[in-house]
Amino acid sequence: MTLPILIVEDEVKIAELLRDYCEQAGYSTVMIHDGNEALAWIDTHQARIVLLDLMLPGTDGFSICRHIQKTSETPVIMISARVEEIDRLLGLELGADDYVCKPFSPREVIARVKTILRRIENPGRQDTGFRLDTGALRVGYGDKVIDLTSVEFNLFKTLHDNPGRIYSRDHLMSMIYRDNRIVTDRTIDSHVKKLRRKLSELGSGDDPVHSVYGVGYKFE
Ligand code: CA
Repeated sequence: MTLPILIVEDEVKIAELLRDYCEQAGYSTVMIHDGNEALAWIDTHQARIVLLDLMLPGTDGFSICRHIQKTSETPVIMISARVEEIDRLLGLELGADDYVCKPFSPREVIARVKTILRRIENPGRQDTGFRLDTGALRVGYGDKVIDLTSVEFNLFKTLHDNPGRIYSRDHLMSMIYRDNRIVTDRTIDSHVKKLRRKLSELGSGDDPVHSVYGVGYKFE
């Protein structure tokens, strides 16, 4: 028997919409509309993945996410009504697997559920085709190789090693500039731009570095 997708959302219509799309995609679901009830369920059951609204009556989605991270390996997709809120959540390193902003397309949510489950349930299929040489700051693909600066290499390695995970600009900057240098969002964007230009020389097909509007970047 497969585990259900847990939908924690106090807006009943949105919860039902998610339920309908999940069930159409062949997943079983459990809907809960209150944060305290969600916590009680989580402590006594297991979910395959949790779709978790941020603002809830009772315990908020933020605390529930922390609780899930501490007590299980269950992946979480956080759903928020505001893109600024997602930025803040990313900065807090909550450990959610993905973030979705309202209003969302249910189709897009299902696509993300599938991506996460594929990544977690088939860990053997992680081969991206890219070869990373940390010592030489080189990236290879097929029979081609490019040289990167250390900033570009660290940027690529961070994104590449966690495919599908969204990194905020702040997080990327803190990983890349360990000396707390003052850099702006535009600095990261310009490094990403150069990195993409170099990566395109490898001819790997689609651009593997994706921008997530208003939030940051991910590798896919
Ligand atoms: Ca809500």
